[in-house]
Amino acid sequence: RLEIRSLRKRFGNRQVVDNVSLSVQPGQVTCLLGPSGCGKSTTLRMIAGVEMQDSGEIYVDGELICDTVFRIPPERRQIGLMFQDFALFPHMSVADNVAFGLKGAAGEKRRRVEELLAKVNLSWAIDKFPHVLSGGEQQRVALARALAPRPRIMLMDEPFSGLDNRLRDGIRDETLAVLKEEDTAVLLVTHEPEEAMRMADEIALMRDGEIVQQGAPYNIYNAPVDKQAVAFFSDIN
Ligand code: ATP
Ligand code: MG
Repeated sequence: RLEIRSLRKRFGNRQVVDNVSLSVQPGQVTCLLGPSGCGKSTTLRMIAGVEMQDSGEIYVDGELICDTVFRIPPERRQIGLMFQDFALFPHMSVADNVAFGLKGAAGEKRRRVEELLAKVNLSWAIDKFPHVLSGGEQQRVALARALAPRPRIMLMDEPFSGLDNRLRDGIRDETLAVLKEEDTAVLLVTHEPEEAMRMADEIALMRDGEIVQQGAPYNIYNAPVDKQAVAFFSDIN
């Protein structure tokens, strides 16, 4: 379970993240949805621990992982990351890519790798190298790699935007199924309302650094908070 309280971040005189609070339960996908530049990635970077907030607190499973004086380093937060350009290691096999963040005995690691590759329907690719796989297949390997160490939280920043339109819906659904099966708490960032509607259990609508509306996708779609929100959702069919 992820909980962030009153997160704030300024760059120069611009308040890029302004009093953002939200929580994500295991097995749930919360979408941080908003136009380009509204502060989505900055929020994720603070949760990941690669950017320091000016104020506010971050908790994982009830444990404080960061406030303005205390800070657990990124590699000890047990947070999985998946970004659009989060490339696979080209010189490593699919199996080694997925095993990269795993510790423990070789046999155990192998079992976890096999389990995850089965979940993303890539058992056949276990000994292949990334360059022989399609974009969608590489994306599924990246998902398996991020989930392998059983992260407490998954942070995903526009993970599907590099994919072909034809593939995207299928991969979204497949990704969602794997995330649910692993019971991970997911915070997914996107600027596409359609993606949020398809994947989210809860949407946090962000604008100019602030969350302007939060709730179930259906409710937000049917009762946008203001004219700007109506316009933002209007390009979905
Ligand atoms: P997009 O959908 O385009 O990815 P975003 O919502 O993820 O947008 P952010 O990357 O969080 O937006 O950036 C929010 C604003 O903060 C932008 O105007 C950006 O230029 C600015 N910004 C981000 N990081 C820094 C930084 N390190 N120094 C100065 N300004 C920054
Ligand atoms: Mg971004």
